Amino acid sequence: MTSHSRDYNARSIDLGSLKKPEPLQFKMTDFRRDLQIRSKREQHARKERLRSLSEAKHLSKNAVTIDTSRGRSNIEVLRLCIKELGFREFPFGRRENLTCDIHWHACNFDENPEVYNGAVNKFPGMGDICSKMSLFRSLDTMKELFPAEYDFYPRTWYLPAQYLEFSAELRKLHEKRVKPKPTFIVKPDTGSQGDGIYLMRDPHEYNPNNGKSHVVQEYLSNVYLINNYKFDLRVYVVLKSLEPLQIYICKEGLARFSTVQYETPTKGNIHETFMHLTNYSLNKRSATFNRSEREDDGSKRTLTSVLRRIGINGHDTDKVWTNIEKCVCKTVIAILPELKVEYQATIPPNKPGPRCFQILGFDILLLDNLKPILLEVNASPSLSIDGEQEVSPGVFEYVTCALDEMVKRPLVRDALLLMSPVNKLKSGFMNKRRRRKRKKGGHSNGNGCPEPVQHQRTHILIIKADESDEEKREVDVTQQMSELNNELDFTRHEKEEEDFLDSHTEDENLNDDEKFVKILEKLAKESCLKQLYPAIYDEAFERLRILERVANLFISFLGVRGSLRIGPTGFRTFARKCRLCRRGITNAAVDIMYIDMQRRWDHMNPDRTSAMSEKKSKSTVGLCFQGFLDSCLEIARRKFPGPSKIEMLETLVDFCENSLSHHDDDGKMPNLPKLHFRRLGLAYRPAGFQVHRRSTDCMTEETVQELYSAESHSSHHPSEEIENFLRQRRKNAYQPTLMRYMTRVSLVQSPE
Ligand code: ADP
Repeated sequence: MTSHSRDYNARSIDLGSLKKPEPLQFKMTDFRRDLQIRSKREQHARKERLRSLSEAKHLSKNAVTIDTSRGRSNIEVLRLCIKELGFREFPFGRRENLTCDIHWHACNFDENPEVYNGAVNKFPGMGDICSKMSLFRSLDTMKELFPAEYDFYPRTWYLPAQYLEFSAELRKLHEKRVKPKPTFIVKPDTGSQGDGIYLMRDPHEYNPNNGKSHVVQEYLSNVYLINNYKFDLRVYVVLKSLEPLQIYICKEGLARFSTVQYETPTKGNIHETFMHLTNYSLNKRSATFNRSEREDDGSKRTLTSVLRRIGINGHDTDKVWTNIEKCVCKTVIAILPELKVEYQATIPPNKPGPRCFQILGFDILLLDNLKPILLEVNASPSLSIDGEQEVSPGVFEYVTCALDEMVKRPLVRDALLLMSPVNKLKSGFMNKRRRRKRKKGGHSNGNGCPEPVQHQRTHILIIKADESDEEKREVDVTQQMSELNNELDFTRHEKEEEDFLDSHTEDENLNDDEKFVKILEKLAKESCLKQLYPAIYDEAFERLRILERVANLFISFLGVRGSLRIGPTGFRTFARKCRLCRRGITNAAVDIMYIDMQRRWDHMNPDRTSAMSEKKSKSTVGLCFQGFLDSCLEIARRKFPGPSKIEMLETLVDFCENSLSHHDDDGKMPNLPKLHFRRLGLAYRPAGFQVHRRSTDCMTEETVQELYSAESHSSHHPSEEIENFLRQRRKNAYQPTLMRYMTRVSLVQSPE
């Protein structure tokens, strides 16, 4: 166990004792115990504050700043990463007008809507978009357009709305006497950790639970087993930005095993939770849960150890992993249009707002032929590295789980690095190098051992104590450091860092930029995150991104800022401006279609509609994006009949974009660059060249320049210039931060 975990264990014993149930009968000693508990809690909170302040002492003003005030269960792993990276933590946030480089929220974007700068680790609306119903609906829509590509999730029905379809399907299967008798799994729409899930073989067994929304899926009984146990994989994915789309996958993850040997479902065993469900939160309560600390043994293992095991069994694990990567990219592409609609409603273009990124947890089951099947996407996967453990009969403690730390710590660390401003990273590394040099030159005690660190300077930090405490306190860190000296273990961390800097910055012929690039190269090589999109799957999946263009049309006609639904006037304007009412469709048909679709989608999403009216912040009347999309499919079918849905939709979207270009030009020739702007998902304004600030952030200066000239000279050589622009954008804008930095300091040629 690491020193961190040792520290934590010591603290956790205190906390554990706080959680003991209160005695039922009143006694004088209860008061004493209460007081003890309170003072222990206060001590604990004070230590935590001092710990973060003491760490801040070593950091330059230029250190990357992280607001962890809303980190909750993620706080332990965050602190370890912040310490490792030498970043600066703000455990209570910053004063009103100051923002941090990264704001970490435990659950969703809305936890702190007052962030106007920096980065937030959640996208607006991601929780809703990843709920089971929304997710599988988005996948279903993509399956309608690309049936061959979207075959990696179980067949799904949405109850109660589709109860009749589901019953009819089941009847058909019964009539055909399919063997073995099919089993279905029922899951509450917004449930998690296995809550409310059950298996059934007959529609009568469905429990409507007060009309709550459920998804019902075919139960996949032919799963890959290890030692006869069922398992699923937790794959971590970092969505770095929507524009340009950047997806990273974590090379390590978890495998969660069931705790009763698997048997194909029968009437007798379908109620055996520990046999059919692999959730850690359920199985940890099983008497047969195996808590082995080894990564390739026990009921929770690392993903790579499971892949190794599959390899030993004679299978091609590279192929399995590639299929998982594809499944991840296609899923993100499926939810992207809705995500963009939510994003622009919360952070409209030209308004100050943070950049967003998010760690997602993909739950994947392997079939017996090793085909990965997506079960769900967790918008806020657990990042806690500790868990309750029974240390002796009836005595539970919170202890750090080495396996969780091994997987989640690099994930969080590299996600933080990915989102950190490059200039701050650079000055941070360079400062450390200088400090190291000074220390080496002046403070060696002759036998090569570094002198113990002397805390001589007095640092005064002003912090806001906590949300309820308005008073700003001055804290002398140096004084308080001595209190903590016994608890903090900086030596191991500093030693590692020194070795790292020594080995990479020794060459005095290199200038600062070159040295920093060397450090970045090493960080990128050792990162647990691998870029999937655009680096690997850009071209292969380009065509799948058609629905983003539909989302752009939807966004253009939303009208009310911040709205997620299009009103009847907006829909009519869409039909008029896109010249859809000219042939085959009348104005009246457009109005009727609007009412039809609105009804259908309110009926499909009853929970969501009422939840939204409770929030009141976003409009609840009108047609949601999925309804708009359905309308587009219907219009495409009527107006541009073709051999397949995707071809009809592509023709419609081309037609709409083209009509809008005509419209913007007041009858002039269609302006190709403008069309291309839309296709790229960039905001186009007729009054001149303006690209969304966040889009330009992602581009190099040259690209923006190029874009600008493409726009201003478009009437002369539009297609040639736009081709150049596209090429340039592929080259530059899609590069990860590191590559862009390297290109800027001219150390590497940008890749062809
Ligand atoms: P939750 O969000 O509540 O964890 P999941 O969709 O992840 O719900 O399902 C819980 C568990 O049920 C999974 O870990 C998996 O073991 C099992 N499971 C879910 N869907 C299926 C399915 N279609 N076929 C077989 N097993 C499934």
